[in-house]
Amino acid sequence: MPIRVLDEKTIARIAAGEVIERPASVVKELVENALDAGATQITVEVRDGGVAFIRVIDNAGGIASAEAELAFQRHATSKLTRIDDLERLTTLGFRGEALPSIAAVADVEMVTAADGSAGGALLALKDGVIITRTSQARSRGTTITVKSLFRSVPARLKFLKSTATENSHIAAVVTRYALAFPEVKFVLLSEGRTVLQTTGTGRLLDVVIAVYGAEIAQKMVAITAAAAGWQAGAPADISVTGMVSSPVLSRAGRDALHFFVNRRAIDSRLLTYAVEEAYTGLLMQGRHPLAVINITLPPALVDVNVHPAKSEVKFRDERVVFAVVQKAVRGTLVTLAPIPRIEEVGRSYTGTRPSPPIGRATWSSAPAPTNDSVASVPEAVQSPLSVSLPALRVLGQVAGNYIVAEGPDGVYVIDQHAAHERILYEKVKREKESAHIEVQGLLEAATLEVTPAQDMALRECCRELQTFGFTLEPFGERSYLVRTVPAVLSRGDWSTALREMLDCPSQAQAERDDSICKTIACHGAVRAGKTLSDEEMRALVRQLEQTENPFTCPHGRPTLIHLSKRQMEREFGRV
Ligand code: ADP
Ligand code: MG
Repeated sequence: MPIRVLDEKTIARIAAGEVIERPASVVKELVENALDAGATQITVEVRDGGVAFIRVIDNAGGIASAEAELAFQRHATSKLTRIDDLERLTTLGFRGEALPSIAAVADVEMVTAADGSAGGALLALKDGVIITRTSQARSRGTTITVKSLFRSVPARLKFLKSTATENSHIAAVVTRYALAFPEVKFVLLSEGRTVLQTTGTGRLLDVVIAVYGAEIAQKMVAITAAAAGWQAGAPADISVTGMVSSPVLSRAGRDALHFFVNRRAIDSRLLTYAVEEAYTGLLMQGRHPLAVINITLPPALVDVNVHPAKSEVKFRDERVVFAVVQKAVRGTLVTLAPIPRIEEVGRSYTGTRPSPPIGRATWSSAPAPTNDSVASVPEAVQSPLSVSLPALRVLGQVAGNYIVAEGPDGVYVIDQHAAHERILYEKVKREKESAHIEVQGLLEAATLEVTPAQDMALRECCRELQTFGFTLEPFGERSYLVRTVPAVLSRGDWSTALREMLDCPSQAQAERDDSICKTIACHGAVRAGKTLSDEEMRALVRQLEQTENPFTCPHGRPTLIHLSKRQMEREFGRV
């Protein structure tokens, strides 16, 4: 065949094929346009799997009458003028290809009324050519009706699946955008039935209820602010919000994994992997979580122009995005759905005893300071070793978190978790230095499932962990039997502590030992919120008094605040 230039209609249909693959693609493009225009209400109606009829109605700003025709011209867009604009793009569309592509493969009718315009415009196109143009009344917004999709492209028509399958693709598109835009009211009518209706309240949970039902929604947890702490170290301008399923919930497929980058629905193997990684050890093999993951990052850090349907993106730094998502999800799961603990532990079965406290500054007999020299904690924190804690008389517990005590110079409020962390940290450190770690045998060996990365770390540091009291044996693929744990952790969350140690990158030996001591102390320490008996509080305060540095926890946060007599007098206007 000789080389020939294709006629325009053929060119348009070929180009349209890239963007409009099936009825759901039409729905996607029209919904994106409505969202870009600022709709708060979007109704989608389809018949015959979308092949016979698709209608999308929005209440957005509409198109000015004079521009209505332009909207159907290829590469005509109001969203971008220069290629550099892509770096600042906040809209879902940007190529000006959707409307002309749809018009190239279907009959299209558009009725649109712009803000402040007198009436609306009606435009009808067949084979990409305008056949009717008149005015028509309409309230603010746009209605686009698409009929006889692919009638002019029989090859494409043949490739479509059953009506039910096409309808389910359409429902998936609407569902995704409903999840991405909880503030928009979506209605999807399929073959005359309402199959999805969201409330537009702006709460993701409400959309999750509309999509998956209340029972499932109940088992979804929001990615928490606490988990945001897990994002530490990540660039401040990348954030992750959304909801993930608690480990009690799972699905056989990955259809309930939804990813949005700057509110654009995308497919991403990278992000799928990041989320599934976070569930390692929490779900049975072959099961998948539900997740709505919203990633917000500066448009310049993501290229949206890599796929004809705009359903894939390229991140400038994939590793960072992967890590941020993985940690946010893992952090949420760890905080809200703690890994089941082994509550029953037997008596310590190895004979090692903690070494007695080694020499340190005397404390209780130290003359109680009578002036302001230890009055304020910040001062004390600055030079913690210069002063020791006076003997304190416990008065009670406040808010399930704080022990209130009286000292020779006023009142002390002690953070029970931070204080206990300090006590355990020094204890573990002492025991480690003297190679006498007190260990606790588990009544029944417990299994620990780890991620591939943790597995590698564990292979390297198994012996080292043993010197801290963890006895682990390989037990199948990425699974270990835990036989003993440091005694300090026996009532704490040792599995989380272990995972945390395995997650922290290798450091110099001394630093590493120290950070292991901190992790053990943190997870062994009494939790904030736990009610303590008077006896327990007294014991905790006594032990705190005996530490080398009673004023801060191992992470440097204060363990107590002090309100001196003088401060009280000042506050009450007595001096
Ligand atoms: P793109 O979205 O890439 O700009 P489209 O072909 O999808 O290209 O749409 C062309 C233009 O038509 C848009 O840039 C927008 O200005 C206008 N438009 C399309 N749909 C709507 C709508 N529902 N409401 C308001 N304006 C719209
Ligand atoms: Mg568009």
